[in-house]
Amino acid sequence: MRRDVDSWREWDREHCWHPFTQHAEWGMAGEEVVLVGGEGPWLIDAEGRRYFDGNSSIWTNIHGHRHPGLDAALRTQLDEIAHTSFLGFANPRAAELAKRLVDFFPPGTLERVFFSDDGSTAVEVAIKMAIQYRQQSGEPERTGFISFENAYHGDTMGAASLGGVSLFFDRFRSFGFPATRVASLADLRTLSAAEIASTAAVVVEPLIQGVNEMRPWPVGQLAEIRDWCDEQGVHLILDEVMTGFGRTGTMFACQQESILPDFLCLAKGLTGGYLPLAATLTTGPVFEAFLGDRDRTFYYGHSYTANQLGCAVALASLDVFEEERVLEGLPARVEALVQGLKAIVHPSVHEVRYCGLIAGLELRQESGERFPGEEHMGERVCLAARAHGLLTRPIRDTIVMMPPLCSTTEEITGACEALGAALDEA
Ligand SMILES: *Cc1c(COP(=O)(O)O)cnc(C)c1O
Repeated sequence: MRRDVDSWREWDREHCWHPFTQHAEWGMAGEEVVLVGGEGPWLIDAEGRRYFDGNSSIWTNIHGHRHPGLDAALRTQLDEIAHTSFLGFANPRAAELAKRLVDFFPPGTLERVFFSDDGSTAVEVAIKMAIQYRQQSGEPERTGFISFENAYHGDTMGAASLGGVSLFFDRFRSFGFPATRVASLADLRTLSAAEIASTAAVVVEPLIQGVNEMRPWPVGQLAEIRDWCDEQGVHLILDEVMTGFGRTGTMFACQQESILPDFLCLAKGLTGGYLPLAATLTTGPVFEAFLGDRDRTFYYGHSYTANQLGCAVALASLDVFEEERVLEGLPARVEALVQGLKAIVHPSVHEVRYCGLIAGLELRQESGERFPGEEHMGERVCLAARAHGLLTRPIRDTIVMMPPLCSTTEEITGACEALGAALDEA
């Protein structure tokens, strides 16, 4: 079998189906970038070009690519075993990882960990647990979910039922389950008593909505949602799939408003961005409602639940947080990102939104109107940025800048300069 970049491109064009991609346009804007290597926050393509990984490989990467500690953990684990079933069997790495995750939270709070594969399944697990919990604790009428407009919780049917991005979800709306959508905390407060009495849980992305063009929530809102849930006897599901693992400046976003959810969904950065692995954390009271007869069992699982390689690299990632004092190094990096984007002076920059080491730079026409959708302005800028050694992707016309946490301040500044140059060209 030939193995060279031409055949990879050919076989990709002929046989691969890419996510969120219109294949009629695939390859039209020049040859597709074939990524073959990496080093820290840098990616290397098949022609040997180096690019800064400006969106952390779709929001997953934390400590960089080919981190020696993470690589070594995987090699060591391979000498033991890659995967064993978690259905009926324990494994050392999953036990260690569950303990490490739970230890981030005060004793007696989030104390159970259910592993799955990715962000969507972490949310699916929370949804199903929340429903079954009510059935088994004398409130079977609490079947409903409240989510936020323009929310994104993943693409599987259940997670998508909670989503609010109409372009992605409207066509499937009638196939999922109905959820109540609110725009704000004020909206939540206007719901009728009957509606609230039939609600199992509120689901929210804490501090910032990612897919909604990187829109931060008002400061303090998360704590107020928690209070509202407590008053109403409603569970709170936090989707920290994007915000978890240092992204917003603290290990978890919920720590910034000193609250805890009843269900915490983690994925993307859990393995440092190496392997698909997710975790749904929940409380003792929720877990206890599933104890007893066999029919109280949580009948849910996936083939690769608690994969040992995934858990091993997740443990190594948590080690790196400690060894490299990653959280302490974040403020300087956030400052570099803020200053770097501030230095971009261009009439199309409408607004720059931040939350920790996440930024969204929104482009609009000088009149303040959005660019016509068919101009694909965000995509054009990102395409131009490639020539300046920066890879990232837009959400509509908002350019995402979300560097790996290991990036130096100089690298972040350089990436912002590359974006500025791309804007001038596009
Ligand atoms: C990415 C994301 C998901 C979905 O995760 P997948 O691993 O892509 O299934 C869910 N919620 C949020 C907030 C995300 O950013």
